[in-house]
Amino acid sequence: LERNDRMAAIIKIENLYKIYPVGKEKVVALGGINLEIPKGQICCILGTSGSGKSTLLNQLAGLEKPTKGRVLIGGVNVSALSEGQLAKFRQKNVGFIFPSYNLLQSYSALENVALPPMFRGIGIALRNRRAKVVLKQAAFGKRMHSKPAQMSGGQQQSLCIARALAVEPEVILMDEPTSALDPISTSKIEELAMDLKDRYTIIIVTHNMQQAARISDKTAFFLLGEMVESDKKETLFSVPKDERKEDYITGRFG
Ligand code: ADP
Ligand code: MG
Repeated sequence: LERNDRMAAIIKIENLYKIYPVGKEKVVALGGINLEIPKGQICCILGTSGSGKSTLLNQLAGLEKPTKGRVLIGGVNVSALSEGQLAKFRQKNVGFIFPSYNLLQSYSALENVALPPMFRGIGIALRNRRAKVVLKQAAFGKRMHSKPAQMSGGQQQSLCIARALAVEPEVILMDEPTSALDPISTSKIEELAMDLKDRYTIIIVTHNMQQAARISDKTAFFLLGEMVESDKKETLFSVPKDERKEDYITGRFG
């Protein structure tokens, strides 16, 4: 039973559309996406710029309402929640990591991580204790009192991940978390994500095919608002199926 529970898809994306009106035109950012993301895995959303990856994350986090279709997280229909319910749901269940680290520059690592759970009404003693645990998980054990300005980009991104963990989310959403990082910092973030995946469901948006091949369990390949293919990474990267995916992974794209 435990095994079944672990393998159950925690996230279900059903016939999801997001259409933006731009002047008289319509941009189909997501054109009917169906995707299931199991617990305890890393799922990469792979695709070129403009393929709808960030739009998908925004729908998952409930930051935007879909035009049609729905998102279920742990059985909750996120798309049907009111603004008030959404705010609570996000604070409790979803950790969001942005490409640029919106950290509080004049606060220490510890303060940056201990602050967000305050919005859930958790007292400072418990928040500090929890912050110290996640800072250690993110290899910040010795630098809890340093400030973002004294950190490398990679360290700032690890700190953002620690901050997301502090609220004990079910789901961690990362939008191009390493796009501004050098290869060594990138591999540290990748290792951190892999360390965390047993305990969380992690979705990483990336345009970097090698990254998806290194760290994902499942990868979904997006192109122009369409999910071209999704599969276990072993299959997606080795079994030819859709020509557009082949063009992308062999570098013949565009
Ligand atoms: P990606 O993250 O894969 O680069 P996005 O999800 O940001 O792609 O964008 C997908 C498409 O939707 C693009 O054509 C983009 O210009 C368009 N788009 C995204 N957000 C908006 C918006 N708020 N208003 C209008 N068009 C948007
Ligand atoms: Mg994007």
